[in-house]
Amino acid sequence: MDSQQKKCELGPWNVSTTQGPILKSSCPLQENSTHEGDKCAECCFAKLNYPLPEMVFGENCLRIAHQAGFALEFRALDALKLVDDKKEWMHVPVADQWQKERQGVTGVDKCSNPYDWTYSTPYRGSLVGDVTVSTTEERINLDKLREREKILFFDEILLFEDELGDNGGAQLEVKVRCMPSGFFVLQRFFLRVDGSIVRLHDTRLYHGAGTDYAIREYLVKEKKISELPGLEAHELRDPDFLSGKMKEVELVCERLQFPSAS
Ligand SMILES: [Zn+2]
Repeated sequence: MDSQQKKCELGPWNVSTTQGPILKSSCPLQENSTHEGDKCAECCFAKLNYPLPEMVFGENCLRIAHQAGFALEFRALDALKLVDDKKEWMHVPVADQWQKERQGVTGVDKCSNPYDWTYSTPYRGSLVGDVTVSTTEERINLDKLREREKILFFDEILLFEDELGDNGGAQLEVKVRCMPSGFFVLQRFFLRVDGSIVRLHDTRLYHGAGTDYAIREYLVKEKKISELPGLEAHELRDPDFLSGKMKEVELVCERLQFPSAS
């Protein structure tokens, strides 16, 4: 499968999504002496010091680029670079077993070190160019986003997914929506460790057309599954359903200031 791109022009912005195939487990070109490793997705991901998720969409990307040269991007490689490669975020006995099983399949020596096997990344997007970040009291006006308005562009892309050896799931996906009044991004990391916990890392980003900044909110929510009695299996796989039942554990609100020339 070749990668596919979708695009939307929104004033000075070019919003584009790229969807490509799942990353191969090893570089298909490494025997080729002329191959440039820094341009090869497999080689770039291979530099990460822990076993990758089962499905990584190395080419998938949301890019929101301003004509002045700066951009906001959401990419799997940058997200996985922020996964803790030195220690576990949580420990469950069952993880020992399936990590041993995985050892036989991929990256043998990489598995001997502890790492965050839940892939809980604090990633909230990549900034390209001269965009400055500061904390702010300003919040995204979600009521305004609920107003009926023409949707000029909508897309969603998956960045990575892992079934945690059949003991739950971890996935990172990004949705983008463009309207005449601005654009809105929701990146969601959803983790479920069966018998233990459900967790969301939501990043919401909104830019109002004609302004020179965006607001970015990063919200972490979680809940012990033992505190959610009586849920059906499909409900435990549904982040939208679970979101309202979880407890907030972290909120960071930031203002992304664009360069003045924009
Ligand atoms: Zn390569």
